[in-house]
Amino acid sequence: MPNYKIQQYDKLTGLPFYEDFLALAEEAKEKQLSDDEQFAVIALDISNFKFINQIYGYEIGNQLLQSLVNITVIDNYHCITACRPYSDHILGLYKTSKDPDLFDYGLKKYNDKFISENTKQFQSVLLHLQCGVYILKDSHEKIVACVDRANMARRSMKGDYSQPYVIFSEEMYKGKEKTSEIISIFETALKNNDILVYYQPKVNIRTKRLEGAEALSRIRCQDGRIMAPGEYIPILESSGRIIDLDFYVMKSVFGMIKQLLEIGSEPVTVSVNLSRIHFYNSRMVEDIIKVFKPYNIPPKYIEFEVTESAFISESGIISDKLIELKQFGFLVSMDDFGTGYSSLHSLSVLPIDVVKFDRSFIKNSTRSPKGLKVLSGLISLCKQIDFDVICEGVEDSDEEQIALDCGCEHVQGYVYDKPLPEDEFLLKYI
Ligand code: C2E
Ligand code: CA
Ligand code: CA
Repeated sequence: MPNYKIQQYDKLTGLPFYEDFLALAEEAKEKQLSDDEQFAVIALDISNFKFINQIYGYEIGNQLLQSLVNITVIDNYHCITACRPYSDHILGLYKTSKDPDLFDYGLKKYNDKFISENTKQFQSVLLHLQCGVYILKDSHEKIVACVDRANMARRSMKGDYSQPYVIFSEEMYKGKEKTSEIISIFETALKNNDILVYYQPKVNIRTKRLEGAEALSRIRCQDGRIMAPGEYIPILESSGRIIDLDFYVMKSVFGMIKQLLEIGSEPVTVSVNLSRIHFYNSRMVEDIIKVFKPYNIPPKYIEFEVTESAFISESGIISDKLIELKQFGFLVSMDDFGTGYSSLHSLSVLPIDVVKFDRSFIKNSTRSPKGLKVLSGLISLCKQIDFDVICEGVEDSDEEQIALDCGCEHVQGYVYDKPLPEDEFLLKYI
């Protein structure tokens, strides 16, 4: 029995308050464990809990939270003490096995049990736990510092549903500095209109005519350097700020099309990348339409690109939203096809207009006759289901010929142009 007397309990879960947890854990970690055991601070939360609350309501959300507490704290003899600092966050001090296999098995069980016990009730969301772990090195470490580290590990999982937990490593401190630097550069750029929208042409190989364009963002830093998406997209996705970026790009594209229509020029359809993070927002489609409406332009000029991997991990919630976008009159494409391993069966039921074949297809086709057969077979299949197809990342005329031989007339790639700043694109193509 601990000597420390708990002052206050959380009404919802019956767990002690955060301050009481800290005191209890400080006391407990002084105890001797057997040689094959170690202390670990574990920080847990439910991925997309905000949207679960929005979709199912708070009462049902609270039931899910209680299920998490039952699995990870109440019915769990490894848990020494735990608390709910806020919302769906659970912190606990655990004794875990030093044997890596047993340790791994124990932690995987939290996620597996949480999913299997709740999947039936929460069919329209993908259930997943974010679980960060800090293993104590000795009893002198302060629990608050351990909590910080476990939380850092937990946050590093954002958006990655492939792992059941992450263990803290010192490298994360460096990652954290980089993350806050990039978010701060992004916020400054957003304020100063220093987010640039580049356009890459989509061209018909036979007619050599422009058939569309893809809008791709760049960030202009204060020292004038242009930052490429590879540097900031993953960070904006894991922090949720990608939503702001995508709306910025949308507004810029809607405005460009409006201007063209005003001067009597016929615009082409422009595609905008829609991060999978949007799909956790139950009001996603309403929010997009609200931003779109004031521009008074026909929706047929706008296509939304959603990456293939999102169709797999978030398939339950994605289809309905895409149907709504299509019903409004927007076009929808599956981006990076070939990188996410969606089943061929799913292709036949997805509400999409265009399949964008990832560059890897063209690359493999130049290297192997089998790769060529796969590409031409898939293109023919897509066309039979009535999808438009386009090959991405076509770099030279040999690759362009391959696309054509495989039955694809539309390409996007360096063979025509790299993404161009808006004024250059308009000057050259419109
Ligand atoms: P993506 O949507 O697949 O866009 C195509 C990427 O391929 C672009 O990279 C483009 O510059 C590059 N590319 C085009 N032609 C060729 C070629 O012939 N060869 C090769 N090797 N590459 C080519 P970029 O502009 O660096 O963008 C990278 C990714 O970042 C994009 O991939 C997209 O997923 C993401 N992204 C960029 N802007 C945004 C945005 O505003 N919102 C969201 N959500 N994602 C964005
Ligand atoms: Ca894209
Ligand atoms: Ca792509």
